[in-house]
Amino acid sequence: MSGKMKTIFIEPPFPPGLWVARDQAGKFGTLSSSQDALFPPLDFAYAGAILEKNGFEFEIIDAPALNLDWKGLLHKVSKIRDPSFIIVNTSAITLPYDLIIINAIKKRKQDSVIGVTGSLLSVWPEMAMKNPSIDIVIQSEVEFVILELLKALENDRLKDVNGITYRDDDGSIVRNPKRQWDLNLDELPFPAYHRLPVKRYHYDRLPRRPFITMLTSRGCPYNCIYCPYPIAYGNLWRARSCENVIEELQYVVDKFGVKSVLFKDQVFTFDMKRAEEICDRILEHKLNIQWICETRVDKLSEKLLLKMKKAGCTELHLGVESGDPEILSAIGKRGVKIDTIKRVFKAAKNVGIKTVAFFIIGLPNETRHSIWKSYKLAIGLNADHVQFTIITPYPGTKLYEIAERNNWILCRDPSEYNLRNVVMRTDKLSGEDLIQAKKHIDNCLKAQGVYAQEILKPPLLASLVKKVLSTIARKAERQFRIWVEEEEP
Ligand code: SF4
Repeated sequence: MSGKMKTIFIEPPFPPGLWVARDQAGKFGTLSSSQDALFPPLDFAYAGAILEKNGFEFEIIDAPALNLDWKGLLHKVSKIRDPSFIIVNTSAITLPYDLIIINAIKKRKQDSVIGVTGSLLSVWPEMAMKNPSIDIVIQSEVEFVILELLKALENDRLKDVNGITYRDDDGSIVRNPKRQWDLNLDELPFPAYHRLPVKRYHYDRLPRRPFITMLTSRGCPYNCIYCPYPIAYGNLWRARSCENVIEELQYVVDKFGVKSVLFKDQVFTFDMKRAEEICDRILEHKLNIQWICETRVDKLSEKLLLKMKKAGCTELHLGVESGDPEILSAIGKRGVKIDTIKRVFKAAKNVGIKTVAFFIIGLPNETRHSIWKSYKLAIGLNADHVQFTIITPYPGTKLYEIAERNNWILCRDPSEYNLRNVVMRTDKLSGEDLIQAKKHIDNCLKAQGVYAQEILKPPLLASLVKKVLSTIARKAERQFRIWVEEEEP
């Protein structure tokens, strides 16, 4: 290997007026109404670390973190001499803007090979290849393919690299076979945080800074029909060893003074014993970090919750999805009982861990009555935050296939797939039903104060506000209930 090829990884700026997280929702991207979070581009940091270890030059330009708009980004890119390879991250919800940026980059760097990452283009690489500025779509985890790709680019052997789609010399599009998910995560070097503006990253739910995100495991075998995570990380659970995780935590604490961590594992406690071990070691090493993780309710016990609390876990993100057992079982959460959900939320509260409950409205077989059940469950959980999102058929999921087969898809523009827009219907609920359901739920939750719990701290103010809210809540619930009862049998 020459060691001379230079790669630029680019996290493009957000589209004007929007704040997004491209790597959320299984790398399809999520919208944010406030500037509540800015996460490091973890896969680029991993890929950079691999290049560094192997003597390649690279640069990561995280435009949102560096406060660069498109002009600033292009200026910065123009100043970099002869990059061989430029990789740009994309998401479904930012794709039109990402493509404008990519075209502008290609105009300035005609001799560079342009690659893209992102789940939508991984599923539909042909969509990317329609754009002549794009040469390669990286459909697998970039950190595991980057070395092979550079070698193949040097030797003109792209046909040997699994997990990519590329434009051949004669202009034809070649889609190589899928790549197996790499198992040995411990072989990865730690992400190249030293090449990122670590102090700029933040997350409102973990206010202590410096803040970073971390993956201790990847993949999820549960196959929930709507879930986009397996597209980005596969449906095989792969984990780093406890030693490797602790070593990285110790490194970021010592080197960058990291004080809080969002574990971005899809199911952090999938192996409950391993999760306990990580907690024990965090305590042993006196890492003194605060952290949040996402997991399933059936992968938690009172004992584990207590350990997590002691080890610095401040909040748990739990996908409840529905309050209707039949829907839960139909979407892939067969083992999850309503009683378990209630027990876990209560147990988390008892040990002092905050909870965020995620629900979806509009799943297959959903009715107005089942939406009501979800709402009632949400209220009863006494979670610190509740979020209802509207069903989204992410391309590549089982739900997308079902929706396509049944002609349920109302909007085919993936940049509208932001979990807020109504983009599909079902046989039982129209698009308008979903809009009304969301409106009723939002009205009720606001009035119930579930959104407002955190600001209701001063006791006097709290009791006064609660009185007013409970009157409004009763009215909002009555209207919601009338809408539910209007449902045709
Ligand atoms: S358990 Fe969670 S991460 Fe796994 S498939 Fe279901 S929703 Fe996705």
